[in-house]
Amino acid sequence: MTLILKITDEGSQYSDQLHDLLGEFGLDPAVDDELDDLSLLPAYVLAGASIRTEAHSHGTHMHVIAINVEIAEELEAAFYDALGQVLEAGDEDDEDDD
Ligand SMILES: [Zn+2]
Repeated sequence: MTLILKITDEGSQYSDQLHDLLGEFGLDPAVDDELDDLSLLPAYVLAGASIRTEAHSHGTHMHVIAINVEIAEELEAAFYDALGQVLEAGDEDDEDDD
């Protein structure tokens, strides 16, 4: 698995290729502080990525430490193309959203 995005309390680390692709859709994490990194997780999953959440608990209380977005090596070449299509489809659907 290749890590393409890691989201923690301290910020988010994007792979260069993911960062560039988001930029093409006007979603630039380096420029747009308001970008909600979590809001794009469903798009990554639809493009074939897996989410691995790191958390720990203190009895009934828990903390999420990090959310990792990973892609299997055999899917990596197709992932960015698929994500582009998902983001494009999302753009077109925007007007119909609640
Ligand atoms: Zn803790």
